[in-house]
Amino acid sequence: MSAIKHHTPDPLMAAYAAGTLPHPFAMVVAAQISMDDTARASFEAHKVAGGVLLDDTETAPVSEDLKSNVMDQLDATYVEKPRKKAQGVYPAPVMEALKGRPPRWKSLGLGVRQDIIWSGPEGSVRLLYIPPNQAVPDHSHGGLELTLVLQGSFSDETGEFGVGDLEVANENVEHTPFAGGDQACICLAATDAPLRFRSFMPRLLQPLFRI
Ligand code: ZN
Repeated sequence: MSAIKHHTPDPLMAAYAAGTLPHPFAMVVAAQISMDDTARASFEAHKVAGGVLLDDTETAPVSEDLKSNVMDQLDATYVEKPRKKAQGVYPAPVMEALKGRPPRWKSLGLGVRQDIIWSGPEGSVRLLYIPPNQAVPDHSHGGLELTLVLQGSFSDETGEFGVGDLEVANENVEHTPFAGGDQACICLAATDAPLRFRSFMPRLLQPLFRI
């Protein structure tokens, strides 16, 4: 993993290390950390800094319990002690969400496939499979979208993303991710609100696919 260009932005990493990132995004950041030594170092640094901050507020009655809870949760679920091992292109946090099974792909048309591996009130996390040279329909976002490349690459209006790269898109970004030509692009994508498609057909299909 030497060519990672798009790392997890610092505020996201800080929120992850503090245990305050909503679950869908935490899953993607955990996966990114597992693929990227720079992210791992940043995570460790934030964890230490966050621990110092919590220690400074020792008068707060909940701080010790809260701190150990947050750290237990983080550690047990994701980065430190993953219950599942990485398999193929799927990092440990993804295998954990998949409960060790292979993805169950559902067609979105034009060869694009998805598997929603987690969904809840905080949003959803999906695996996306995009055939070489194929695009995901042009869309904008009702909230935040994090996309981590697990295999292949994609490019859009904002740049090029290869294995281990993380794209952060929000309400202000409208894009058409386009898979590279060498192999299918497999991504892990988390959203906290439905995507907004420009063309009529995908909008019509949206409730069906829960995009
Ligand atoms: Zn998007």
